[in-house]
Amino acid sequence: MNDNDKQLEAIRNFSGAYPKQIWSLFFSEMWERFCFYGMRGMLTFFMVYQMSMDKEVANLQYGATQAWVYAFTLIGGLFADKILGFKKSLFWGGILMIVGSIILTFDPKAFFFQGIAFLIVGTGFFKPNISSMVGQLYRSDDNRRDAGFSLFYSGINIGAFFGGILMIGVGKGEILSSLIPEHLRWNVAFGLVAIAMFISLVVFSFARRTLGSIGNTPINEDSEPEKKWYSYAVYIGALACIPVIIKMVSNTQYTDWFMYFIGPFSLLYLGYEMTKLQKAENLKLLAALVFIVFSSFFWAIFEQAGGSLSLYAAEHLDRGSLNVDPNIVNNSANSMFVIALAPLVGLLWIWMHKRKIEPNSVVKFGLGFLLLGIAFYIFAVNRMFASSGIASGDIFMLGYLVVTLGEIVLSPIGLSLMTKLATTRLKGFMMGMWFLASAYGQYIAGLFGAGISPDDNASPIQKLEIYSAGYQQFALYAVIAGILIIAISPWVKKLMGEVK
Ligand code: GLN
Repeated sequence: MNDNDKQLEAIRNFSGAYPKQIWSLFFSEMWERFCFYGMRGMLTFFMVYQMSMDKEVANLQYGATQAWVYAFTLIGGLFADKILGFKKSLFWGGILMIVGSIILTFDPKAFFFQGIAFLIVGTGFFKPNISSMVGQLYRSDDNRRDAGFSLFYSGINIGAFFGGILMIGVGKGEILSSLIPEHLRWNVAFGLVAIAMFISLVVFSFARRTLGSIGNTPINEDSEPEKKWYSYAVYIGALACIPVIIKMVSNTQYTDWFMYFIGPFSLLYLGYEMTKLQKAENLKLLAALVFIVFSSFFWAIFEQAGGSLSLYAAEHLDRGSLNVDPNIVNNSANSMFVIALAPLVGLLWIWMHKRKIEPNSVVKFGLGFLLLGIAFYIFAVNRMFASSGIASGDIFMLGYLVVTLGEIVLSPIGLSLMTKLATTRLKGFMMGMWFLASAYGQYIAGLFGAGISPDDNASPIQKLEIYSAGYQQFALYAVIAGILIIAISPWVKKLMGEVK
């Protein structure tokens, strides 16, 4: 056994619930998500109220940005596997994000798309690869992995929660307004990304030393000196993508075409890679694909949060017994519930495992859909508690609690599964595909949302009926999907081989 293997063995032989390296990955990802959700929360607002864009155009542009960010994770994952390794990819991604933020800080209106393009490419190199590293902290048969991903998921949501509040708060002058001159508020808001990513990279540089060979480049520069230049080619290639992305995001029609192309392309590429693998490896990849396809459908319903549910919350809910604005509930209840519940659910898995009653990953996935379905039924039946088209904020909050439980049993488990099912050479790519499914989810969410959007002239009661009928239908889809997954679980389990 060489030194690298010994170090890896020592990392993976940790005692207790979590490996200690997970904490640096947790904090590093927390700061990255702080930026992502902070930006997400202010983009549309900034485009409409600061750049005077038409609302519909701004919405389309926002959707395009979201789709690109997640689609680029596929590229980030692919090049990490082949050339950079996870560690270098993550640094490169973080640096690109910092550059994007500095550009936006300088003049957010004049260089809007330039800055955003850097952020898209940067996130693509960062996001999938940090999740892949979490998976590497565990031996393949370690049952504590799902709990680790649940904890990691809390970090994601702590970042999301604070980023979502702070960035738009600074931009709009609700936070720190006495310190920041009015004409610089948006500059500072965009500049927070550079600060947060700087902290994220500093945290990661400490983690780097404790990670041993995890995330190192797959290229051995001593035995393959001709490949030394590959990483520079990736850096140059990534920079060359920026002008293309600027064009594509600013013209959403191109984004549509890209979305039609990238899914089939990724499947073909996977098919090509599969021709080089053993049967058992391929069956696992097939199982991963089943999870990926279902997950895009999960996000399509879940992501109503950013679309139809936010309009529903604005017009059809009371402030509930906590007297909170329903849009605030819509934007922050999910993160809050994840932060509180994800580690507990993680510990529940460990507890159930000890008693031999832990459901397998496929059943957990199905359970995620069933909970999603129940939550959307709760949103739908809320109309029975309504008067004059205004339904209950409390019931809405309850719905969010259940949606979040569904997310917790599906999303971190999905990350965990990708790290278990992908063969070593495709770990980054499969993680990228997992996030690509989110890109499609966002995309379909827009179509679903548009499909239940009521006519402006309808009365409040009629509008509430239309939304509620739509949510009931989504609930039914989710329940059917959940039952289907549980029904096919023996078959999927067979594909997964020894993976639990
Ligand atoms: N909320 C999670 C994150 O930001 C999951 C996102 C997703 O896969 N759609 O990482």
